[in-house]
Amino acid sequence: MADSSPPDSPPVALLLGSNLGDRAGFLRRARESLAACGFDVVRASEVFETEPVECGPQPPYLNQVLLGTSRHGPEALLEVCQGIERQQGRRRTAPRGPRTLDVDLLFYGSRVVAAPRLTLPHPALPRRRSLLVPLAQVAPGWPHPVLGKTVLELLREGGDPGWVRGWWG
Ligand code: ADP
Ligand code: MG
Repeated sequence: MADSSPPDSPPVALLLGSNLGDRAGFLRRARESLAACGFDVVRASEVFETEPVECGPQPPYLNQVLLGTSRHGPEALLEVCQGIERQQGRRRTAPRGPRTLDVDLLFYGSRVVAAPRLTLPHPALPRRRSLLVPLAQVAPGWPHPVLGKTVLELLREGGDPGWVRGWWG
C-alpha cells in the first residue's frame, strides 16, 4: 500500500495506558486508531493491570505495549498519539492525573531525543515496572541506546515497587 511504513523503518514501542472508565475499551480503540494512522503492529504484549506510582492515589491502570513500525517520524507520531488521546476524551486536568487514555513513545529505534515536547527513550523506561514488564514481552533484547542495557537487564535490576499483574478482563 502506498501509505505503509518504508521497509527499513526502525522498531517503535508505544505504551498504552488507561485508568478511567472503560479501560479495556479505550485500549482497544487506541489500537484501532493507531492502525488507521499507519502504525503497523508487529507484536503486542498482554494487557497488564498496574499500580500507579509517583502520582498520588488513583485507580489502577491497564497497560499494554505495542511494538511496530510507523510511517511518521518521532515528533509527528507523538502528535498522532496525542490526537488519539484527545479523540478518546482525555482532558489534561492535573499533571499525572487519572486519564481515559495515555499513549507514550517508549523508543523509536535507537533515536535519542531531548526536545521540550519529546524525550526518547522515554525517561521512565529504566525504572518503571508497569512499562518494563510488558515491554520485556515484545522486545526483551532491545538495547537502551544511552544506558547500554537491554530491557530484560533493566527489568532484572528491579525497578520501582509498583505491582504489575496479569489482567484477563
Ligand atoms: P505522562 O508523562 O504521564 O505520560 P502526559 O501524557 O500528560 O503525561 O504527557 C506530558 C508531556 O510529556 C506531553 O505533552 C509530551 O509532550 C511529553 N513527552 C515527552 N516525552 C514523551 C514521550 N516519550 N512520550 C509521550 N509524551 C512525551
Ligand atoms: Mg503521556
